[in-house]
Amino acid sequence: MGKITLPKSYNYMSAFLTFRCNLNCSFCVNKASSNNFYRDKFNEISGEQWVRAINRIEAPKEIPMSLVGGEPSLHKDFIYIINNIKPELGIDIVTNLWWNKVKINNFIEKVSPERINNHSPFPSIRVSYHPEQMGEGEKLVENTSKLKKAGFDIGIECIMYPSPAQLESLERMALRCKKEEISFRPKSFIGVYGGKDNLDREFAITHGNSSRYPEAVSSEKNLECMCKTSNLLINPCGEVYKCQRDLLLSENPVGNLLNSSFQIEDIFRHCNKYGECHPCDVKVKTNNKEELGTTLVEIRDVK
Ligand code: SF4
Ligand code: SF4
Repeated sequence: MGKITLPKSYNYMSAFLTFRCNLNCSFCVNKASSNNFYRDKFNEISGEQWVRAINRIEAPKEIPMSLVGGEPSLHKDFIYIINNIKPELGIDIVTNLWWNKVKINNFIEKVSPERINNHSPFPSIRVSYHPEQMGEGEKLVENTSKLKKAGFDIGIECIMYPSPAQLESLERMALRCKKEEISFRPKSFIGVYGGKDNLDREFAITHGNSSRYPEAVSSEKNLECMCKTSNLLINPCGEVYKCQRDLLLSENPVGNLLNSSFQIEDIFRHCNKYGECHPCDVKVKTNNKEELGTTLVEIRDVK
C-alpha cells in the first residue's frame, strides 16, 4: 500500500482501536453528540491490519498516533499494535487504566517505556480518572505508580464534570497524586450539565468554549457550511472521518486506511450538520504545543 503524508495543517492523529469499554460513565464523551451511539456494533480490524494501515503514514514525531477508544487496551492485539508501529511515528495512549494486576504486569513485561513517546509536553500515557465508576481511585493510583516506576511517561487526568461529588473526588485525587509525585491534570467538561437545584427547579448549563462557532453544538436547527479538519480520525474499522460527530455516528466516511489508493485530502468539505457538531470538534482548546485558541475543525460559509 502506498504511503500517506499527513498534511502540514494536521495537529492530531487518533486511532480508535475499539469503542468497547470496561466502564460505563454517565457523561461519556463518546455519547456527547448523540445517544444513537452503540459501542459494540463495530467490526474491529485486527492488529495486523492496524499496523499495516498506520505504518503507511508519514508524520512528524511530535504528532503521535494516539491510541484511544473506548478503552483501547480492550483490542485483542493492543500490545502487538504498539510494538509494531514503525519507530518513526510517536505513540501516545489514552486509557482508563482500570486494569488487573496480570494485565499491568504483562504490559510492563512486553512494552518498552521508550516506545510510548508523544514528544510533547503532555504525558505519553494519559490515564482518565472517573470517580463515578472508580470511587476514590486507589487502584488507579497504584497502577499508575507501577507504570511510572517501570519508566513510563504517565499522568492522570480528570474531567471537571460540575457535580459536587465529582469535584470533591477530583480535589482528593489531586492531593493523592501530589503525594505520589504523579502528574495530575484537571480537564474542563464540555457538554450540558443539568438537573434540579436546591429549590427543586430545573436547570441546564452548557459548558465548553465553542465561541468561535456559535450554535454549532446542540442547536435546534442545522445549517450548511464548509468544514476542514486538522485531525486524522480513524474508527475501529479503519474508516477515516472528517469530524467526531461523523465518526461516532459512522456517517460520511471519507475513505478507509486499508484502501491502497486512500490519501488524505486537506480540503474544506460541504456539511449540512452545523448545529450537531460534537463539542470536541469546535471547543477552543490548547494545541499540542499548549497554545490556546485552536479548534479541531475550521468552518466557513455557514448559511
Ligand atoms: S472510561 Fe471513557 S470511554 Fe469508557 S465509558 Fe468512561 S468516558 Fe466513556
Ligand atoms: S460542521 Fe460540524 S458536523 Fe459538519 S463536518 Fe464540521 S464539525 Fe462535523
